Amino acid sequence: ARRKDEQQETTTVRVGDVIIGGPQVVVIAGPCAIESYEQLLSTALEVQRLGATMLRGGAYKPRTSPYSFRGKGIGGLEMLSQIKALTGLPVVTEVMDARDIERIGEVADMFQIGSRNMQNYTLLTEVGKTKHPVLLKRGLASTLEEWIYAAEYIMAEGNDQVVLCERGIRTFETYTRNTVDITAIPALKELTHLPVFLDPSHGTGKWSLVSPVALAGIAAGADGLMIEVHPQPELALSDGDQSLNFEHFAELMEKVKPVAVVV
Ligand code: PEP
Ligand code: MN
Repeated sequence: ARRKDEQQETTTVRVGDVIIGGPQVVVIAGPCAIESYEQLLSTALEVQRLGATMLRGGAYKPRTSPYSFRGKGIGGLEMLSQIKALTGLPVVTEVMDARDIERIGEVADMFQIGSRNMQNYTLLTEVGKTKHPVLLKRGLASTLEEWIYAAEYIMAEGNDQVVLCERGIRTFETYTRNTVDITAIPALKELTHLPVFLDPSHGTGKWSLVSPVALAGIAAGADGLMIEVHPQPELALSDGDQSLNFEHFAELMEKVKPVAVVV
């Protein structure tokens, strides 16, 4: 087990030109799911203009109901590839199945392992064999210890480019989609040397709560934020309730900017 000691600095994770775990809070933004070329392009251009330095967008979506939109798959990856070339933004997208790693790796600068797969040890081992940075989201009801061991499955294969992403856990509270564990952020800083991200979109499930919780995460020491943004959240094929429109994302960035450099 690798644990932070007094001397150990935070591991720096590099995604293209973006440095995660340095003094700058990194904002990754984009739609939950890639729905169309226009949707992804307009969102990418707008979040870039407002200061996001990485783009997110799901092509393979883990949906609770099999009847929900499960992503555009290869078609989505092609759009991601084109828009990455156009904007220069590094991209993160979810890999759900080890059989897709090679194909997704041709486009993605960073792999996302979603909550539902945090303890998919085959998948963790296989992404660990790649050189791609990995955004490892916290399992739906995982303890910090289980989460750290999951990260170690990746690192044990030689890939130390792992970022932990708090995205809320299941509790008795149902008003919010999940309960954001803000304490996890400083706790992980004590326990590990890995950068820690916060995803207040899935954490809250409600767009109006995203901004205040994002600020709380930065105050608690998060190295970055992952925010869902959609041109028309009310028409989104997934996670519309928690997605910011462009105007609300601009407001969030205005609030984040003054506190985005950790000194
Ligand atoms: C997502 O990022 O869209 C997602 C499915 O996240 P999580 O795995 O945290 O639910
Ligand atoms: Mn989502």
